[in-house]
Amino acid sequence: MMAHITRLRRLISAHHAAGGYAKVVGGLLLMLLVATAVAAPLLAPYDPGAQVAAPFAAPSWAHLLGANDIGQDLLSELIYGARVSLLVGLLAALAATVVGTAVGLAAGYFRGPLDAALMRMVDVMLSLPFLPLMIVLGVYLGPGLVTEILIIGTVIWAHAARELRAQVLSSRERGHIQAIRAMGASAGYVLARHLLPAVFPLVLPQFLRAANAAILLESSLGFLGLGDPTTKSWGTMLFYANARSAFLTHAWLWWVLPAGLCIAATVLGFALLGYAMEPRIRPRLRARPRSWLVPSAASCGSRSGQIAVRETPLLQVADLSVTYETAGSAVRAVDAVSFDVRRGEVLGIVGESGCGKSTVAMALLRLLKPPARLVAGRMLLNDRDLALLSPAELQRLRGARLALVPQTAMNALNPVYNVLHQVVEAIMAHRSVSRREARARGLELLALVGIPPERGQSYPHELSGGMRQRVVIAMALANDPQLIIADEPTTGLDLLVQAEILALLADLRARLNLAMIFISHDLAVVLRIADRIVVMQAGQVVERGPAAALAAQPEHPYTRRLLETMPRLKIASLFESVLSDRPADDVRLVTIGKEEQ
Ligand code: ADP
Ligand code: MG
Repeated sequence: MMAHITRLRRLISAHHAAGGYAKVVGGLLLMLLVATAVAAPLLAPYDPGAQVAAPFAAPSWAHLLGANDIGQDLLSELIYGARVSLLVGLLAALAATVVGTAVGLAAGYFRGPLDAALMRMVDVMLSLPFLPLMIVLGVYLGPGLVTEILIIGTVIWAHAARELRAQVLSSRERGHIQAIRAMGASAGYVLARHLLPAVFPLVLPQFLRAANAAILLESSLGFLGLGDPTTKSWGTMLFYANARSAFLTHAWLWWVLPAGLCIAATVLGFALLGYAMEPRIRPRLRARPRSWLVPSAASCGSRSGQIAVRETPLLQVADLSVTYETAGSAVRAVDAVSFDVRRGEVLGIVGESGCGKSTVAMALLRLLKPPARLVAGRMLLNDRDLALLSPAELQRLRGARLALVPQTAMNALNPVYNVLHQVVEAIMAHRSVSRREARARGLELLALVGIPPERGQSYPHELSGGMRQRVVIAMALANDPQLIIADEPTTGLDLLVQAEILALLADLRARLNLAMIFISHDLAVVLRIADRIVVMQAGQVVERGPAAALAAQPEHPYTRRLLETMPRLKIASLFESVLSDRPADDVRLVTIGKEEQ
């Protein structure tokens, strides 16, 4: 076993060493070739277009590689040829990578018909034999450097598109990207600031691969006589060598071989760099969003002055039904659910795992994705039906008037930025304020959720679960939402922290007059914070009522069961301890004491 591991280690380190050499050798080769191309006028002994020797002259000290059929110096031609070959190759590769990346991002992000159409195009491109295609295009468009670039770009973009699409498809489902979308970020913003950086590590190898192919294709085009005859590339040199029968004499040694070696060296250089890059890049694929985005709404200030209750509820949900439609069967996860949320009120939704709570939350945010389908119901927020909003309206609403506090804060935070930065970005994304103002506001928000200013510099992994949940709450508050949907915001936190987060939410709710939908499977938790409670079972509302009444006199057997199975350890006592600022040790003693009952 040990021997096996040692061998494996040795193999891995050999692989790493090979990667290191490949990078150095590949890099040097390419640097040398690029330097030759750049310094061609200095390096070339003659003007490649001038007749300076006898036709078909053999190599001599004056003409190291001899001369071609019209007496032009072949060494000079070779050196200038580097310019054309590399320029065409690199520009074509760049164009192909840009187009491929754009197509991959668009297809992976928007999915649906656009994806289908783009991917059919990619399939067609990848299945066409590209040499004949290139010849047809070359003959049709005529010779010239720009057309060469276009032809090569057209032929090779599809590969990058397919690879990047796959990566986008998986990146877009990541927690933080979902969270940003829940907060109403526009498609353009998500694509440019989050998905592009997430897939960028793949773009470079795609470019190297494209450059490799492009150099070879350029040589082929040149060799077939479809290159630009006035500015010769290595491929064009080969075309002339072939046309003037250099292969039949010794002339192939100085006319054909050097150009061939140059092409091979370039391809080798790109291949080695690509090889060196692979192990370094693949494991690091990860989404790297810049921020948790929160679109802007009204003012930054507290809304404590607002009137608490008006006649019409803030949110009216009526007969909401959602099904998950899989092959043949449809599960009705939410079945004719109705409830209201008044301004400044906390509505609790409680029910065991799988009863449809998260589905209700996602339906409200309009974030249901197939196989989920909203089959019926109205969701009136300020008298406007959420189900009927256009994507642009939705985007303005999410995060601004409706904000989500998700369960797993770690997923919703970007690991590579400190938390203050993420709050600041959230503010700036939708408000035209200076960075300084946004920072000040960011610190204010952090203070509001009980994070001292110096912790703003911490990265998510440096904070405890409770602290991270506080940051996420600060972000949800960034745009002064009218309604916060908190889906299991304390689940997964340990009891003491749970109680602290609950206390924070209760405190914020009182101070900011927030309306909130508080979702949890834990009735004990919901009872502590909700004014009214909706009990769900298997997609249906089985009981509803004011929290106190529901706890005192449950009517539905399911509610009674929930009450009975509530842990003996009442989070209530913990909650009150936290609110009354008893020392933590004391609270922990309470916890242990009750647990042992
Ligand atoms: P909760 O948040 O209350 O735990 P969910 O809203 O996540 O419950 O799920 C409710 C029900 O919807 C589940 O019991 C399951 O039957 C169904 N469901 C959820 N997600 C999917 C899915 N992706 N595909 C099929 N059915 C699903
Ligand atoms: Mg859930």
